[in-house]
Amino acid sequence: MMSKAYLSLGTNMGDRLGYLNKAISLLKMQGSIQIKKMSSIYETDPVGFEDQSPFLNMVIEIETAESPFRLLEIILQIEEKLGRIRLFKWGPRTIDLDILLYNQDNIETEQLIVPHPRMHERAFVLIPLLEINDKLMHPALGKEFKQILSEIPKEKGVRRWKQIDGEDEFAHLES
Ligand code: AMP
Repeated sequence: MMSKAYLSLGTNMGDRLGYLNKAISLLKMQGSIQIKKMSSIYETDPVGFEDQSPFLNMVIEIETAESPFRLLEIILQIEEKLGRIRLFKWGPRTIDLDILLYNQDNIETEQLIVPHPRMHERAFVLIPLLEINDKLMHPALGKEFKQILSEIPKEKGVRRWKQIDGEDEFAHLES
């Protein structure tokens, strides 16, 4: 059975667009994952530890036959392959991949929490997520993400960096 999931991608070191591109192509190479939608790429001011370079962030919608736990393994392998270096929590990283949503499931285990536990407080996640699906509900809070975004200090520090081309929504990743 196919499941629908949303992943977030973030990077703030080196060739940021290159890291997004590579992460997307490694996901595509998994026969069991199909990328259905991609948001624009946003540039966002760092949150948490603020003395670091700005991030590029985006969200993608995928369809997959993989379980959420297998999906986590896959994204952790991709992070490793792209040489994710993380000096400390919230610090700079080459690429960070997170599972935001997996169907409307609520999962709470030691390795995996879905919906991602901090997504509802992050405009840099909610803005690209809503760009690709503005009808989504937070399965645990029972609220529309649209409403959640309207209730947080928003859009400050989140700028559209590369817009999707209406004809070909994947074009921005192929340069
Ligand atoms: P971070 O690098 O801060 O995103 O944390 C990575 C770790 O968070 C992974 O090793 C996972 O075991 C754990 N984790 C828990 N929930 C999630 C999720 N929804 N997506 C990605 N990683 C998660």
